[in-house]
Amino acid sequence: MNSPPQEVLTRILRKGMTPLLVFDFDGTLSPIVENPEEAQISPEALSLLKRLSSIDRVITGIMSGRSLEDVKKRVPLPLPVWGGNHGAEVEVLGETRILIDTSRLEALKEFGKVLSSLPLDERVLVEDKKFSISVHTRRVSPEEEKEVQALLRERVKAFPGLAWRRGKRVFEVFPSGAPGKGKALFTVKKILEEKRKETYYPFYFGDDVTDKNVYEEMKKRGCGHFTFVEGGREVSPEGDHIVNGIDGLQEVMEKIVAALKGSA
Ligand SMILES: [Mg+2]
Repeated sequence: MNSPPQEVLTRILRKGMTPLLVFDFDGTLSPIVENPEEAQISPEALSLLKRLSSIDRVITGIMSGRSLEDVKKRVPLPLPVWGGNHGAEVEVLGETRILIDTSRLEALKEFGKVLSSLPLDERVLVEDKKFSISVHTRRVSPEEEKEVQALLRERVKAFPGLAWRRGKRVFEVFPSGAPGKGKALFTVKKILEEKRKETYYPFYFGDDVTDKNVYEEMKKRGCGHFTFVEGGREVSPEGDHIVNGIDGLQEVMEKIVAALKGSA
């Protein structure tokens, strides 16, 4: 427990492996705002990410619940690794891969129609992300959120090809069998290894339940290091290392940059 990523990273480099550093976006690199449309990467995180991505001995990426297109717009850097829709779509060294059963997208479209017929409060924001639909409940009370989610869970049941998950103030519906961030991260690792004939060791940084899915996958495979970004009481902190909010993560990113320079 509690081994900081910069220390593990130094050991991994000594073993001849390449660290694969992947960051969640909302609540990790960008402060949570009431309207998800307005979320922006913090200037400090952007500059740290830029420094990290310019270092040859590591490979850097983003894995978000947002669509690939959306998150790429919010991080103006030519990163080699991207994941959108919790890993349903990934882009590795310029090549995009869809990791879900696309035959289920028709059902998702149908569910979208059901959603638009529901009498949802106007503060509840529905976002169609092509490979999933997010229902944002950041602007309603926790009680109202529970009601909305109960209603949605009930409606999803009618679609056997679809599944749902809950994140921080968001309810998401997606094709069942979608990889989730954990499996997607290991698929990215495999793609990289095939393309570059190197061995990669994943480091992941995230703040939400959907990120803890990565931690589970790492534990299952006995490979990887997970830094949890604690940001409120909604998600219980768990990981190989825990930092306090976005500022805590930025301190760690500084240390990683320093460790990489120090061991050059
Ligand atoms: Mg997040």
